Amino acid sequence: MEELKKPETFEREKENDYIGENLNLVNQNIQKACGIAGRNTSDVTLIAVSKTKPVSMLMEAYKYGCREFGENKVQELTQKYDEMPKDIHWHMIGHLQRNKVKYVVGKVALIHSVDSLKLAEEISREAVKKQTKVSILIEVNIAGEDSKYGVEPVNAEKLVREAALLPGICVKGLMAIAPFVEDPEENRQYFALLKQLSVDIKQKNIDNVNMNVLSMGMTGDYLVAIEEGATYVRVGTGIFGNRQ
Ligand SMILES: *Cc1c(COP(=O)(O)O)cnc(C)c1O
Repeated sequence: MEELKKPETFEREKENDYIGENLNLVNQNIQKACGIAGRNTSDVTLIAVSKTKPVSMLMEAYKYGCREFGENKVQELTQKYDEMPKDIHWHMIGHLQRNKVKYVVGKVALIHSVDSLKLAEEISREAVKKQTKVSILIEVNIAGEDSKYGVEPVNAEKLVREAALLPGICVKGLMAIAPFVEDPEENRQYFALLKQLSVDIKQKNIDNVNMNVLSMGMTGDYLVAIEEGATYVRVGTGIFGNRQ
């Protein structure tokens, strides 16, 4: 497996020409991980996590073919949405406050971070008002960390069932942010847990639910996440370099 470039080499933020190289490298690594896991490359989608980065850098990634971008703040997402080409799929990956739902519905392809019925209800209301459908993932606090959002694994199915009953919402799967670890192997257990949870829920054949999406894996651990079944990996640093 080719190593990602060391963080030091990311400091050259004035010239953005390393972004294409990094994207290439990440895509090659995804291919290799798919090979190891016996999966199709087409089953794994790379989301370029562009939070805190300027539009010029996003445009560089766009130039190299990237059409999936992830942001964790509503204002930043909507601003970039306005400035960037319209064939981009935007992913809301950060904690979403109910009073900001109205700004993202109609703009985002997928909300990864639904962790309460109240939030799902607000998304539903806004979707109905705008006569649109919103695809969501249920965020699971897979390692039970105090610092993380997300429902406990035992409560995931309940929230899936409740959200699936709401008009204007389509539940597509689960999302998790694994712990910050030195060795990505430490997170394999959590990725496997999220996969198992999604398989268990899928087997219940709940109306208006398809559990085909598994959003897990970041710069430090996306290869392990792919081996354990990720369909979306969210990579920021590995493409754009360190954040301030
Ligand atoms: C910032 C962020 C990422 C990307 O993290 P990197 O380690 O920079 O790849 C992925 N997912 C979420 C939810 C994030 O907030």
